[in-house]
Amino acid sequence: MAIFTDIAVCLRRLDYSETSQVLTLFTPEHGTVRVIAKGQKRSTKTRVAVGVDLLELGQVVWSAGPAASEGRLSTLREWRQQEIFPNVRQDLGAVMAGQYAAELIVTMLPETDPYPALFEVVCKFLAHIGAGKPNLASLVRLMWLTLHYTGHLPQWQRCGVCGRGVEAAGPAFFGLNTGGLICGECSGRVGQRVKVEGPLSAALLAGRPERVPGRGFALLDMYVMHLAGRPLRCSEAVQWAMLRLAGAAAAAGGPAATTIGEGTAAADNSGDGMGENRDDNGNGPGG
Ligand SMILES: [Zn+2]
Repeated sequence: MAIFTDIAVCLRRLDYSETSQVLTLFTPEHGTVRVIAKGQKRSTKTRVAVGVDLLELGQVVWSAGPAASEGRLSTLREWRQQEIFPNVRQDLGAVMAGQYAAELIVTMLPETDPYPALFEVVCKFLAHIGAGKPNLASLVRLMWLTLHYTGHLPQWQRCGVCGRGVEAAGPAFFGLNTGGLICGECSGRVGQRVKVEGPLSAALLAGRPERVPGRGFALLDMYVMHLAGRPLRCSEAVQWAMLRLAGAAAAAGGPAATTIGEGTAAADNSGDGMGENRDDNGNGPGG
């Protein structure tokens, strides 16, 4: 039985039995780790149950037998809370952004592969979002960096078919299979593509899709869904919450993130929704 220590953010919590939970923890040195937390839900005479909250940071000790590498659960030995990020819990938009981020990391990262730089980005993101903050822009930045660190960064300098560059201000297409730019001339030859309007195209060229947060989210969410083979559970809730908070009720009929073939990455009908609060100066996570 090997003992491991690290710091971790709790990304997922599932009830396992009356008294136990299975936690998915994101650590810098050991990647995502699934542990069973026995007795987490009930105090006994000899110990006080210490719950582990979603999206809190703690020091963790766990033990794993040789079978852990074959997908067997490890066992949580100790959790010392370090930071609960109260800012995340005080605002609906931040809660939704945080939950989407957690699901994104669990979905995109292979278990136990370490991504220390992405771990730092996630901690910065959790510290940065909150009431009155550009939460959607921060989430889009995090999505972009997650794609970067997992080797799926969208390529927007040249068309994935003919190799031509994109006009900075012009609309273009995003090829879901090629993972990047498809020019207008080649678009007819590419099956799964999404139309990208000029402002988002320019933002992608600059590597800053969070400058157009609503459309940036819709596009990257669609790409993540394509990579994962299924939509993220939080996707619709994020769109709903962000649009509602931005006062864009009119966007109710906007294209859903299920548009495959030729759709438009536009979840927002009123500018970019979070435009008032956008944060272009690298104050977002990892920026
Ligand atoms: Zn082309």
